[in-house]
Amino acid sequence: MAKAFASQADLSEKRITFDELGPGLFAFTAEGDPNTGVIIGDDSVMVVDTQATPVMAQQVIARIREVTDKPVKHVVLSHYHAVRVLGASAYQPENIIASRGTHDLIVERGQQDYESEVGRFPRLFDSVESVPGLTWPTIVFDKRLTLYLGRREVQILHLGRGHTKGDTVVWLPEEKVLYSGDLVEYEATPYTGDAYLRDWPATLSRLAELGPQKLVPGRGAALKTSAEVAAGIAGTQDFIKRLYAAVGAGVAAGKPLKDIYDETYAALEPDFGKWVIFEHCMPFDVTRAYEEASGIDDSRIWTAVRDLEMWRGLEQRAEFKGAEA
Ligand SMILES: [Zn+2]
Repeated sequence: MAKAFASQADLSEKRITFDELGPGLFAFTAEGDPNTGVIIGDDSVMVVDTQATPVMAQQVIARIREVTDKPVKHVVLSHYHAVRVLGASAYQPENIIASRGTHDLIVERGQQDYESEVGRFPRLFDSVESVPGLTWPTIVFDKRLTLYLGRREVQILHLGRGHTKGDTVVWLPEEKVLYSGDLVEYEATPYTGDAYLRDWPATLSRLAELGPQKLVPGRGAALKTSAEVAAGIAGTQDFIKRLYAAVGAGVAAGKPLKDIYDETYAALEPDFGKWVIFEHCMPFDVTRAYEEASGIDDSRIWTAVRDLEMWRGLEQRAEFKGAEA
């Protein structure tokens, strides 16, 4: 039997955790679903990534209202992916902050990404009809933006390309807490369909040089000790390097994408197959790594149609397995 496309068969609700990592610093996590950060300042609240729809965002707002009645004034987009940004309107923020790269990607491919992501992971797009349209940043920065939420300093940084060309982290230098977006995952498979796999490890090294003591990854549990932070960064780096090495070797040998996919899957599955969304990510990840190793700098735009064509091409193996069984 063929594998269900992407995460269409993933229908079971996850348990939400709302951890306080320091005074007024929270992580909304849900067993590998996309995380949201919450930073409470003297007179306002900042949200880092919004959830996929305004209805999904209400779960975050309910948790915020358990700990503060201050208004949410600032939303930061760690990158452009629909599952992170399309819930923004629920917070009615004054500012929506994004990097130049993220802004440009929303202009270039935001609508295609929206349609593609809804098809890949319907559970995360609960009440998709509540999305009013694309989320447009109101403040765009190039490398760094510092906000003071009263006395609390918040640095919003673009440290380089990795998961996308616009990756943004939110850093609290006093508290040494970092919100990394999808640059770091924990026990969740990195999605690299829009990535820069050769740049990603160096961007992670710059992220580690900040010296975070606690880190909220894009997916997975909040990392609460420096040892856990190091393990989360190293695990992500290891996956990225091994993925790209395996695919790069296949491209150098002139092998077709389908063969490279089967070999890379077999090489990575023993160590990473237990991470959430492994089956979902691998076809996209190998396809993008193949592009990059073939000299295509920016990822080709994913559309709902391209998603399915790619999946059919690479997941034949599963159909054959089923036929033999
Ligand atoms: Zn992402």
